Amino acid sequence: APDPVRPPNADLQRAGAFKAVTSLANPTIKEIRALQLRKHRAETGLFLGEGVKLAADALAAGWPVRTLVVASDAIAHPFVARTAATARARGALVIEANEAVMAKISRRDNPQTVIGVFEQHIGGLEAIAAARPGIWIALEAVRDPGNLGTIVRTADALGAAGVLLVGETTDPFGLEAVRATMGSFFHVPLARASVAEFLAWRKSYRGLVVGTHLAGAVDIRSVDYREPAVLAMGNEQAGLSPEMAAACDHLVKIPMAGQADSLNLAISTGIALFEMRRGKLAL
Ligand code: SAM
Repeated sequence: APDPVRPPNADLQRAGAFKAVTSLANPTIKEIRALQLRKHRAETGLFLGEGVKLAADALAAGWPVRTLVVASDAIAHPFVARTAATARARGALVIEANEAVMAKISRRDNPQTVIGVFEQHIGGLEAIAAARPGIWIALEAVRDPGNLGTIVRTADALGAAGVLLVGETTDPFGLEAVRATMGSFFHVPLARASVAEFLAWRKSYRGLVVGTHLAGAVDIRSVDYREPAVLAMGNEQAGLSPEMAAACDHLVKIPMAGQADSLNLAISTGIALFEMRRGKLAL
């Protein structure tokens, strides 16, 4: 993973510190709020995530936590206090803030009790060989952060090896995408590549590449799946590009019964992944 750029604000670099903040004008809070913007996330290599469970998940997964902002009225809650103490022990800055500050950071009227600042980690195509073997979900030009987050959660639940973002996509580190992962964010490796990089890599990839396509003439249930594999999913509006579709070993379709033209991207990913992993899943 590329080394995240350090943020300019000195407070964010101070390890294991604790401070109380009530002012919306506080420079550290301003830095944290700016992480709502993709540009600032890209510049700093950091991102925001809400909720004490998310922060605890990150710590349990050994994910680098820079800062935890904790609501004053929740700081005595045992789980919150334990999570904050663990974060501080790992070198994070813990900030106690009032509700107005929490609401401003999260842009929500009823903010969560904990908001974390985490380091971004995303690999390139080499991450696929480095991760455990299995199914990587390749999302071409995914636009909707809710879809992306839901797919990361589904990848976690159904045991995919990782999620690969192909081409220009929505930011996986955006608040809405992270929120939709429901804590699975820290358990699913992420990678990204351009379409050209993916097509070049695919030439020497020894696994199966399965694309889902509305023009696919093959019933998704009729293929003999094996792992490792890539499951390629198309963009919400345009589907898979012709170049990506041409790179697939199979173009499969999920049969539909009603009047809908297509299934939602996250739903179809869930169905396809379940079908491919059917034999590997057990209650
Ligand atoms: N108008 C787009 C098209 O013609 O492809 C619709 C794209 S659909 C909303 C988004 C993605 O979900 C598709 O590219 C495909 O990967 C997957 N998908 C949705 N419904 C599907 C189905 N019935 N069979 C296979 N894939 C499907």
